[in-house]
Amino acid sequence: MNNIQKKEKQMNINVTRSSMPSFDEYVCEIRELWDTRWLSNRGTLHKRFEKMLEDYLLCSNPALFANGHVALEVAINAFNFQCGAEIITTPYTHCSTTHSIVRNNLVPVFVDVRPDNFTINAELIEQAITSKTVAIVATHVYGYSCDVHRIDEIAQKHNLKVIYDAAHAFGVMYEKKGLVNYGDASMVSCHATKVFHTIEGGFTVFKDPNIREKVEHLINFGFYGPESVKSVSTNARMNEFEAAMGICNLRHFQDELNKRGTIAEVYREKLGKIEGIRLIQPQPGVSENYSYWPVFFEKFKKNRDQVQKVLFEKSIFARKYFYPLVTDLECYQGRFPESKISTPVALKAAETVLCLPIYADLSVEEAAAIANLILA
Ligand SMILES: *Cc1c(COP(=O)(O)O)cnc(C)c1O
Repeated sequence: MNNIQKKEKQMNINVTRSSMPSFDEYVCEIRELWDTRWLSNRGTLHKRFEKMLEDYLLCSNPALFANGHVALEVAINAFNFQCGAEIITTPYTHCSTTHSIVRNNLVPVFVDVRPDNFTINAELIEQAITSKTVAIVATHVYGYSCDVHRIDEIAQKHNLKVIYDAAHAFGVMYEKKGLVNYGDASMVSCHATKVFHTIEGGFTVFKDPNIREKVEHLINFGFYGPESVKSVSTNARMNEFEAAMGICNLRHFQDELNKRGTIAEVYREKLGKIEGIRLIQPQPGVSENYSYWPVFFEKFKKNRDQVQKVLFEKSIFARKYFYPLVTDLECYQGRFPESKISTPVALKAAETVLCLPIYADLSVEEAAAIANLILA
């Protein structure tokens, strides 16, 4: 076996690969923890990371969490919606979005997504509103922005809260500030598989400083003081080691975006003009973070599953984000009235989507080879 064959054999490309700072940079950041022995509960790294996020995303007072899911679940909890109230959402998302609604004893009402970028179709929201509707929980899928202004208009008119699952949207800028500034709350995931990570972690940005203040207690069992617990809440704290990873990764985030952007260019160049293959187009005024690279095989010579198999045989693990639709997952089957979950655009997306590998360490040659395998 020659070297190229050897390399090919070892090529094991996952849909993503976590970027990490150098070992020395990370160790330098956590060294002080051995002196202070302050490992969690708003330590110095936690506070420093919060400040860096504010500066980078031009947002105020982000609340840091142990992970993105709990950040969303607690954010919804913070608004104190009445048990059984309805939340308008979509099924084309991570199950975490729906779980965070259902685990708060609220009822998800599913509307379809836009055919161009698969975020919630704002034009369908009003017809889904009933006297029980209290909020819209929408996902900035793959980091593409929902129609934040249109959604805001509808929410104002009907007195609804707007909560964004911005798990994919770290670093996306719109109108000169972070997309996380839109809505009453926006949750970003900092899981190891996301475009920016803190190993596990997440944060939420709130519009109302009073809700933000309340969340500080909800993160910590409902403690208001050493002898005062005012709400039945969870533990959702981010620890110092995670904050340190966030500090280091944020230093290199622009580099991460540049590298991913180069890979995106390769994919766009090779797959962008092929009959039967659809890519999502960049949105005017919204920066891209290349968190995923979804390709929709609508009428291509190979269907989505065939493409996935061709890649899989070369140890390239492209993934079907998001398939099945949340409403088709075992835990939700039969749970919602069929008539209320007609979402044909989302269904077609789920049946045709494949997310190709994209991460900073992926080489241009590897991306080109992946595209060529698809086209062959
Ligand atoms: C990853 C993800 C979550 C959950 O985030 P974790 O940090 O993994 O808990 C929620 N929503 C969406 C859309 C996601 O992709």
